[in-house]
Formats: sequence, C-alpha cells, structure tokens
Amino acid sequence: MKLTEMSAEELASFKAEVQKKYDDFKAQGLSLNMARGKPSAEQLDLTEGLLTAVKSSEDCFAEDGTDCRNYGGLDGLPEAKALFAPMLGVTPDELIICGNSSLNIMYDTIAKFMLFGTGDGEKPWKDTKVKWLCPVPGYDRHFLITEKMGFELVNIPMDKNGPDMDMVEKLVAEDDTIKGIWCVPMYANPTGTTYSDEVVKRLAAMTTKAKDFKIFWDNAYCIHHLSDTPDTLLNILDECEKAGNPDRVYMLASTSKVTFPGAGVAMIASSEKNIKYLKSMMTVQTIGYDKINQLRHVKFFGTYENLMEHMKKHRAIIEPKFKIVLDTLEKEIAPLGIGSWEKPNGGYFISFNALNGCAKRICQLCKEAGVVLTGAGATYPYGKDPDDSNIRIAPTFPPENELKVAADVFATAVKLASAEKLLAE
Ligand code: PMP
Repeated sequence: MKLTEMSAEELASFKAEVQKKYDDFKAQGLSLNMARGKPSAEQLDLTEGLLTAVKSSEDCFAEDGTDCRNYGGLDGLPEAKALFAPMLGVTPDELIICGNSSLNIMYDTIAKFMLFGTGDGEKPWKDTKVKWLCPVPGYDRHFLITEKMGFELVNIPMDKNGPDMDMVEKLVAEDDTIKGIWCVPMYANPTGTTYSDEVVKRLAAMTTKAKDFKIFWDNAYCIHHLSDTPDTLLNILDECEKAGNPDRVYMLASTSKVTFPGAGVAMIASSEKNIKYLKSMMTVQTIGYDKINQLRHVKFFGTYENLMEHMKKHRAIIEPKFKIVLDTLEKEIAPLGIGSWEKPNGGYFISFNALNGCAKRICQLCKEAGVVLTGAGATYPYGKDPDDSNIRIAPTFPPENELKVAADVFATAVKLASAEKLLAE
C-alpha cells in the first residue's frame, strides 16, 4: 500500500514498526559508507600490473626515443595520445594528456579564463560578471569550482535526455554574462543520464549572447558501462564544428576509475585552436607532465581494445553492487511510493529522489545509524536542494555484505523519514 494512501492510524503503526527496525540497526554500532564514488580495493587490484609496467631505466623510452625520465613533451607522449584519443573520439592534435586529475584541469582551465580570457578576444572573466549553468542534480565538485571563482550558479533541471534545453537556449540567447555550462554527458553523476543526440546537437548549435561561451564536457564515465547494450553519445566536438562553433567545447576524461584514482592520467580535448591556446599558457606553468606514468599506462594496456576488456572486469565487480541497492529499493521502497530512481546503464551512482523535504532527515537518520551518505543538498549548487529530495548513492566501494546492510539501513531511514513527514502534514 502506498504510504500517502494510509490513514493516520495505519501510518502511525507503520512508523512504530519501522522505528523499531531502525533502533535495532542503531544498536549494532555500524560503520558503513555509501558516500563517495570510489572503486573498491578489488577493483584497484585489477590494475596491479600497472605498478610494475615500468621497472627499470630501459623501460623509460618512448617509441620516438624520448627518455621519459627527462623533461619534455608538454602535451603528452604520442603513444599515450594514440591510446586515449578514441576514448573521447578526437585526433591526437586535439588532445593534451596532463597529470593525475581531470578535476584539476577543469579548475586550472577556468582559472586561466579568469586571468587571461578564453582566447576569443573577450575580457578575462575576472573583469566581468559571470553566470554559469549547472544541470541539477549534478557533481558537487564541479559546482564548487565555479562557486569558488565567484560565478553566479544557475540551476538547470535534468530530464531523461539531459539538461532542459528549452531553458538553456533561452538563457544563453538573452544573457551575455552566462559564460558556460557543466556537463557530464554520459552516465551523469549522479543521475546516470546520457545526453540524447538532440540535446548534444542543440548544445553545439545554440546561439549564445556571450561570444566566449564554453561547454565543459566532463566525460568521466564514457567507458564505464554496466550493460550489454551501452548508451551511445554523439561526439560534441564534431557537432560544434558542423554547427559553426568549433571552439565551444572542452572535453575531459581521466583514468581515475579505470586504473588508480589520484595516480592515473587525465586529459583535455578541444579544437586545435583551443589546444594551441591552452598550450601557450601551460608552457608557463609546467615543463611537462609525468611521462613515466603515461608510459606505464601505455605498456599496461597496449591497445584501446585491451582497455575496453579491462572495463568489463570493473563491470563484473560493480554490477552486483548496483543490483543489491536497486533490488532493495525495488522491494522496500517501490510499493510504498515514497521515492523514485532510475537503473543506470553505467557510471558510479544511483540518484534517489525522496518525498520533498525528506532528504536531509534521511541522511541524518543514516548517519546516526552508522551509514554515511553524500550529504543531502550536495548535488545542487551552494549545497541547496530546493526540494530537499535528492540523495546520491555510491555503491561501488563497500564490500557486498556491508552494502547489503547499508542499503537496508537506507531503506529503513527512507521509510521512517517519509512516515514522520506524512504524519506531520
Ligand atoms: N568528474 C566527475 C563527473 C566525477 O564524478 C569525478 C570523480 N568523482 C571526477 C571528475 C574526478 O576526476 P579526476 O580524478 O580525474 O579528477
């Protein structure tokens, strides 16, 4: 029976029963975590061989004879570019292989635009008001970068095809202070959405009042499939070029959740003109990134096909974990009508929408019972979810036995918070 259809008496006895179950969990002194999207230790073990892929000085030479122990090669080793270019669907000339973090590249690129402008002949962003479009729910660390820069963040609702494009097109056409948008176009963090072809084309072709409008296309999960029929994503760099806006998009990716988070390789791709501009500024910052790590990755994977095979091993480990959470939600929550979610085809998260006004309470209840979740509100700019509804569930890190308990605690907290809310109405 749906919770909203229960009489006050039925609701009160439902609540008393759930409270008992919750108190039992609380008495167990649990310490579980479904907060951050981290690979499990078992996943990290898949990349054991990376640690010894470069063993001695003799292993340190690139195909063109470059001694990777020494300075040089600002934009990455040719063989590293050849390995990773297909991931983003770009040519090596459109790609720079950087250091260990794509988030760092995003921060750094926006900081460059603040200080020096985008290279489109417009003012540096520090000298002008900047607004930034944030599809919601989205990735908290994206929002934090643009918040820290002092931009005004504008929520754009996500639907099953991506951001609400009617709203995006209208805003960017009217307001020249809107300088950009965050996008996680495939298996989005946290909704799991992959942008439809139409959304990609509209983003590429829309008329923007700002001449220096930029799309940050963070394709962090482009090879993280969880299905035999993976989603597909249109190549936005090609679409921008076709639409006459060749310099609109910066694409990003990394091997953080492919090899080792914090010790992988990260990359940025864009038009050749933009890449040249970025390099002209990068060359002042660094003489070059860690080529030995790039070489490790090249030697460990060898080919793009092997990289794809490697991702299947990740899938084998994490798919059962997604199933544990989804099965629990289906069994415990769906019949009560007190939440909604989608089964993602890939990525790292399940996005749960509770009854409005319940997300904070659910997270608090979970915390008090020893289960840490990403804080309610984190999926919105300024940490403010106007509906207090969305919670990001990250099932990959805990072992399956712990995850099962954590999912049960979560479902119990959802029931309790929903009953409290409905009783108070
Ligand atoms: N982008 C998205 C959408 C992410 O979810 C994450 C990791 N949670 C990152 C970027 C971070 O990537 P990196 O480790 O390359 O900085």
